[in-house]
Amino acid sequence: MAIRNIREIGDPVLNKKCKEVTEMTQRIRDLIGDMFDTMYEANGVGLAAPQVGILKRIVVIDTTGEDPLVLINPRIVESDGEQTGLEGCLSVPGKSGNVTRPNHVKAVYLDENMNECEIEGEELLARAICHELDHLEGELYVDKVEGNLMDNSEIQETEEG
Ligand code: ZN
Repeated sequence: MAIRNIREIGDPVLNKKCKEVTEMTQRIRDLIGDMFDTMYEANGVGLAAPQVGILKRIVVIDTTGEDPLVLINPRIVESDGEQTGLEGCLSVPGKSGNVTRPNHVKAVYLDENMNECEIEGEELLARAICHELDHLEGELYVDKVEGNLMDNSEIQETEEG
């Protein structure tokens, strides 16, 4: 497995709609392995295939460091509640902004064996699912930020007083 180059905001691949995965292949298995390596290396909690330049509906998420999740062709089927909090993206390095998301979502997806699965998430997991699924539509969180997009250094200064 390998670390892939993370595409950054301004790269047109991040604004394209991704295609469904129709069959599991060794190439896609390798891609998924590389996506996990790339996400962990960058200390991220989620990564979508377009972020490594592949326009397929695949995301990896791990909000705890112990719950690796592969979602293929994911679709949100239920969402409720509301949360507003700071969000960042590996494709927008060094920045964060406040985004309002549902507090609870239920999604259906295929796992790496193309079996139909379902997941429910709250808080950070719900936020990560929404954020990563947006990538598959070619959408970045920066277009949903309330107020200003902030430099992480400014935020640290604020937290430190
Ligand atoms: Zn992102």
